[in-house]
Amino acid sequence: MPHIFCIANQKGGVGKTTTTVNLAAGLALVGQRVLIVDLDPQGNATMGSGVDKRQLEHSVYDVLLESLSVREARQPSPKGGYDVLGANRELSGAEIELVTLERRDRRLKTALEACAADYDFVLIDCPPSLSLLTLNGLTCAHGVIVPMQCEYFALEGLTDLVNTVKQVHANLNRELQLIGLLRVMFDPRVTLQQQVSDQLKAHFGDKVFNTVIPRNVRLAEAPSHGMPGVVYDKSSKGAQAFIEFARELVARVSAAGKGLKATKA
Ligand code: ADP
Ligand code: MG
Repeated sequence: MPHIFCIANQKGGVGKTTTTVNLAAGLALVGQRVLIVDLDPQGNATMGSGVDKRQLEHSVYDVLLESLSVREARQPSPKGGYDVLGANRELSGAEIELVTLERRDRRLKTALEACAADYDFVLIDCPPSLSLLTLNGLTCAHGVIVPMQCEYFALEGLTDLVNTVKQVHANLNRELQLIGLLRVMFDPRVTLQQQVSDQLKAHFGDKVFNTVIPRNVRLAEAPSHGMPGVVYDKSSKGAQAFIEFARELVARVSAAGKGLKATKA
C-alpha cells in the first residue's frame, strides 16, 4: 500500500504545485515509485511534470467518472521519474457531474486501491478550495502536507485547514492526519518570516518539517521547461532542499511504520 498524501492549503499561490512536483522528483531520486494525481483543473502539476494538459488523451476526470482505471489514464512524466494522472479544464466539469453520483467523495480512493501495488507514494495536488475534488483527495489520503509561506496571515489560514482535516477525519476518513507543515519560499533575511517560523514551531512543534524550502528562482523557472526544479537544476538551492525534504519524509514515514509494528507486537 502506498503512502497517500494530499498537498493542500486553501490559499492559492502558496507553493502547493511546486511542492508536489519537486517532492515527487525528489522521492524518485531516492528510489521511490511515485504517482502524482493532479486534482486542480488548472493542470499546473501536469504541465510542470512535462505533460501537455491541452493534449491529454486521458485524465483524472475519466477516473473520477469511472470510465477508465488509473493504469489506463496515467502517463510517465518524461523527465520527472514518476507517473502523472493529469488534469485540465475538463476537471471542473467533474465537480458538477459528481454531485449527483453515488460514492461521489470516494471515487479516487476506489480507483487508487486498484493500482496500490505500483507505488510507494501517491501525491495529490489539491485545488485551493474545499471542493468535492479536494474532498476526494482527503478521503483517500493518509496525510496532509501543508506548504506555507511564513507571512503575517499564515497562521490564520491554517486554523481553517486544521479544522477541515479534523472534520474529514471524524466523518469520512479515520486514517487522515496532518503530517506536517512545510515552510516554503523562505527568506531568512526577512525578520517577519523568521518570527512567523518561530511561532509555527511553538504552536505545532514537530508537525513542522525540519527542512525549509528557500525562495529560489530556479524552482520558478522550471515549469516553463516542462520539468520539476529538482530535475531542471539539481544543484540549485531549491532543488537540494526538496531532495532533503524527500529524505526527511521517507525517514518520518518509516519511523512511523516501525512505531506501528512495535505497538502491534
Ligand atoms: P499553488 O499551487 O499553491 O497555487 P505554486 O506552486 O503554483 O502555488 O506557486 C506559486 C508561484 O510561486 C509559482 O509561480 C511558483 O513558480 C512560485 N514558487 C513556488 N515556490 C517557490 C520557491 N521556493 N521559490 C521561488 N518561487 C516559487
Ligand atoms: Mg497549484
